[in-house]
Amino acid sequence: MQYKRFGKKFLIKLDKGDELVASIHSVMNKEGVKAGVVVSGIGGCSSVVIRYFDLKTKKYTDKEFKGFFEITSLSGNISVLDGKSFAHLHITLGDSDYNVFGGHLGSAIVEITCEIVINPFEGEILREFDPGTGANLIRM
Ligand code: ZN
Repeated sequence: MQYKRFGKKFLIKLDKGDELVASIHSVMNKEGVKAGVVVSGIGGCSSVVIRYFDLKTKKYTDKEFKGFFEITSLSGNISVLDGKSFAHLHITLGDSDYNVFGGHLGSAIVEITCEIVINPFEGEILREFDPGTGANLIRM
C-alpha cells in the first residue's frame, strides 16, 4: 500500500493481497482523519465479504464471494467509532459475466490494484450504536 496527499485529499494505492477496509482504517488512523468522504475506489479484488442488514433481526448476514471481481464503485464516509477512525463502505463488483452486484463492504482482498480517493472534512463525525435500528449511526 502507498498513499499520497494532494492538497487535503488522499490517493491510496493498494496492491495485490492488501485488505481494503483495514488499509483505509490504517491510513485514516495514522493521519488522524476523523471525518470525510470516500470519493471513489476502482480496481480489482477477490475473497470479498458483503454484509446484508436484515431489518427483522437487526443483524448483518455476511456472504463471501470468491473469484476475481472488478471494483466498479467504492463509496462511503469516514467517521469515528469507539474512538477510532472508521470507514463505512459500500461496494459494487462486476463479475466475468458482466453482472454487477454489491452492498455493505465487510472486507476484500485486493487483486492487481485498487485506487481510492478520500476527501477529509475538518472536524469529527461521531458514530455510535443505535439500539432502535441495531446499526452504528452517525450522531448529529
Ligand atoms: Zn452500509
